[in-house]
Parts: sequence; structure tokens; C-alpha cells
Amino acid sequence: MSQTFDTIVLGGGIGGYSAAIRASQLGRTVAIVEQDKLGGTCLHRGCIPSKALLRSAELFAVMKESERFGIETDSVRVDYKKVSTRKQAIVEQLYQGVQYLMKKNKITVFHGKGRIIGPSIFSPRSGTVSVEQEDGEILSLVPDKLIIATGSRPRSLPGLETDGITVLNSDEALRMEQLPESAIIIGGGVIGVEWASLLNDFGVQVTIVEFAQRLLPAEDEEVSRELERLLKKRGVTIRTGAAVQTDSVVRESGSIRLTVKRREELEELTAQVALVCVGRQANIEDIGLHATDVKVEAGFIKVNTNMQTAESHIYAVGDCIGGLQLAHAAAHEGIAAAEHGSGQTPHHTEAHQVPRCVYSRPEIASIGFTEGQAKDQGRKVKTAKLSFQGLGKAQVLGETDGFVKVVADEESGDILGVHMIGAHVTDYISEAALAQLLQATPWEVGQTIHPHPTLSELLGEAMLAVDGKSINF
Ligand SMILES: Cc1cc2nc3c(=O)[nH]c(=O)nc-3n(C[C@H](O)[C@H](O)[C@H](O)COP(=O)(O)OP(=O)(O)OC[C@H]3O[C@@H](n4cnc5c(N)ncnc54)[C@H](O)[C@@H]3O)c2cc1C
Repeated sequence: MSQTFDTIVLGGGIGGYSAAIRASQLGRTVAIVEQDKLGGTCLHRGCIPSKALLRSAELFAVMKESERFGIETDSVRVDYKKVSTRKQAIVEQLYQGVQYLMKKNKITVFHGKGRIIGPSIFSPRSGTVSVEQEDGEILSLVPDKLIIATGSRPRSLPGLETDGITVLNSDEALRMEQLPESAIIIGGGVIGVEWASLLNDFGVQVTIVEFAQRLLPAEDEEVSRELERLLKKRGVTIRTGAAVQTDSVVRESGSIRLTVKRREELEELTAQVALVCVGRQANIEDIGLHATDVKVEAGFIKVNTNMQTAESHIYAVGDCIGGLQLAHAAAHEGIAAAEHGSGQTPHHTEAHQVPRCVYSRPEIASIGFTEGQAKDQGRKVKTAKLSFQGLGKAQVLGETDGFVKVVADEESGDILGVHMIGAHVTDYISEAALAQLLQATPWEVGQTIHPHPTLSELLGEAMLAVDGKSINF
């Protein structure tokens, strides 16, 4: 059986469902094909469940220190089953919301695995999606425009294959029913750092092993150093510039032993579990790309600025095209693809205009180029870095760790990057994103009135400090 739609979206994660909704708003008939649950990684295995756990961990950490705030408690303990139940309830509620959005926007949802087929009796062009439904029936969906949004999955490390008990990836870690006593986290990128912060706050003994010379190698070096300092202060063991010797791994009942090599020195590490957080790979192997002229580069689908693949009626968005692999980037790309496929001119966003957030404690939020990247581009930069220590709201909250750093072009005055580490910084990085979008100068952002007392005042002051005009610092 075959059915025809104006737009067909393969994959119902945030990139896919955002594309579907936009295409429908633009008057297209739309179908979405999802093999698992609408909402994808972000809702079921990523942003939402991890942030729900992080919130419980943060509360526990604050409650343990409640005496600082004049609050006495007899005892505080974690019931991880309840923590996990709360996380799942949030996921379920939002899942209902996504399903409702499909209905509201009259999007036809097909449940099953989709594969792209080449030219056939259904269409002279490649791009028809063959859907294998749960009851075994095969449907052929013929699109005018196809948007591939099949997302990504955890990358595995040869020699450290996950078993869901002793060696876990981030999907499996989210399903843990109880907390381990100790964990080795392999990979000090965003996901590894968030898990390290979360587990440490829950009282788990944590060691991070990172191959690069610093945690979060994509962030400004000063942010990485500050994060490392703060995590170490909380008792997290950090081994950077360290490679796991995958042939050294010994799984015993209830523990794992492995050796890491660091500057020619070998160190044996033992923990109850190992979490492998070494990046994510695109879900593109088994979706029929061989039947198309779509190009793949370094494991990701290649697209132009309109999200078109080498076949102009086939688009790709989200984690399957690589780049920043963030939910808001996927959504933005999905909307752009839907708009272009509907004959509109979408707003084009450069990678450096996408905010990046890490929900560790303290949080990290940044946009644009790091100081190192700006200098590597041959620019002369001026910077300002102000600490939360001197800010009223930070003192009130008892959250004085971290700083705001602004990197600006010395000649043009343009804001090149904003790098923040501190409590709740993810909540107002969008101010810096707006400044970049509007091509505001640091002075203009500094002139914007920031209410007092708020944490965002420090961003305003740092913008002024770039030209030595800060009032309070
Ligand atoms: C632990 C963790 C925490 C994260 N935290 C954040 C965060 O705080 N903020 C942030 O911005 N990002 C975060 N991310 C990243 C974010 O989740 C992803 O960037 C985002 O989900 C990508 O969306 P997507 O639509 O491209 O892909 P996905 O969400 O992966 O969705 C792809 C969908 O396609 C379906 N699919 C795949 N192949 C087929 C097929 N052949 N047929 C039918 N369906 C198919 C899949 O089942 C899936 O539902 C996190 C990720 C992880 C793992």
C-alpha cells in the first residue's frame, strides 16, 4: 500500500517533530515515521531525564549544606527509586504533550522502522520511505520532500562494550535502579561531566578519565580549568590526558578494574561501574542511504545551509548531521528544513550562534568563539572576566563559584564569545545569543538595564568591563 504526503519526516525526535509541526503550519500534508517513541533522545534518554536527576542531586547537595542557610535538618537521605520515579513521571507528562502536538497539527504518525528506497513504481525519484509496521505490514510513503532526522546513539569503546550492569552507556545509566558506590566515567565531555556532577552530589565516588588535556575541550580553557578545580574541591578524581588501556579491563562480579596510561605512567582504577561517555554516532547505517545520492562525511549526513543533502528534495537535520548535537540546534535545523522545503527562506544560523550548555553544578553556558579560537583566527581580542564572588545575588544564593568571561574583537568591537560558569548561567545565555543575533556591541549589552539583584547583572558588567566601563567591578 502507498500513501503520498507533501513532507515526510523520518525520525520523531526533537529535530523531526519540530520539522513536522513547522511544515504542517505552512499548509503541507505531513507524516512522521518513528520506530520507538516520539520525543527521541532528548525526551526519553537525554536532556529531560538527565536534568530531572540533576535537579534531585542538586537539591540533595544543597540540603546537606542547609546549615549554611540557617536551616537545621536531622538527616537527609536519598531514595533513588523515588528520584527515578519522579524523572519518569516528567518524561511521561512531556511525552503526552508531544503526542498531543502531533494531533493538534494534523500530523500522521506511522509507528515502525523506516527505510528510504530508490526510484520505484511509487516514484521516479529516491526518497520513498518504506515502513515496516509493528504488525509486519509494509507501507510505502511517497514524499514531495523528505526530512531525515534519525538522530544518534551512544558511541561504544572497543574493549569496553556495555553490559548494562558493570559497563554502562548514558542510556543504560538513566535506567539504573540504584546508585553505585563508585563510578569511573570515561569521557570528560558534556555528558560525562554532567554524570560526574550528578553522581558526586548523590555521594558516589567518581573518577573521570579524559583523553584530551582538559575537561570539556570544546569550551574556553579558563572554563575547563575552573570546572576541574571545582569538581576536585568536591572530591571528584580527574585524570586528563589519560587513555584507557582497553585490553586491561577486568569485569568482576560487582566491580570493574582498568588501567589508564598518562604521560607514560600506568594507573589502575577500580569502581563498581564504568560509564562510557565517549560521544555519539549518527543513526544512518540502516536507513537506505545507499539507495540515494545522499553523501555521508565522517559518519554524518552532509547538508548545505538549507539542510539539503546532495539530493535537493531530501533534507537532514539534528544529530544525524553531526555538528553541535544539541536539542535546540536540532529543532532549529528541523524548522529551517521544513521552511525551505515549503518554498520559504529560512533564517540561517552559524554554529557559533548556537548556545552550548552543561548542566553540571555549577552550570556552564557559552556562545561563540573561545579566546583560543578567536586568536587562532588571527584576531586581536580584548577580554573581561568577572567573578560571581563580587555579585550581590550570588552571595544571597550562596552560589559564588565561577565567572563570566566576554571575548570581543579589539578592532571592530564585536562580541566574539561569552563563556560563563556558575549557578543558573544556562538561564540567561540566551541574552548573549540575542546580542550576537542583533550584532550588538558589548557596550550596548552593558547599557541594557539588568534588574538588581540578579545573576545576569554580571553579564552586563562583564560587557562593560571589556572597555573598562564596569561600575561595580
Ligand atoms: C544524556 C544526554 C543528555 C543530553 N542533554 C542535552 C541537553 O541538556 N541539552 C541539549 O540541547 N541537548 C542534550 N542532549 C542532546 C540531545 O538529546 C540531542 O541533540 C537531540 O535529542 C537530537 O535530536 P534529533 O531529533 O536529531 O535525534 P533523536 O532525538 O535521537 O531522535 C531521532 C529519532 O529517530 C528515530 N529513528 C531512528 N532511525 C529510525 C528509522 N529508521 N525509522 C524510524 N525512526 C527512526 C529514533 O527512534 C529517535 O526517536 C543530550 C543527549 C544525551 C544523550
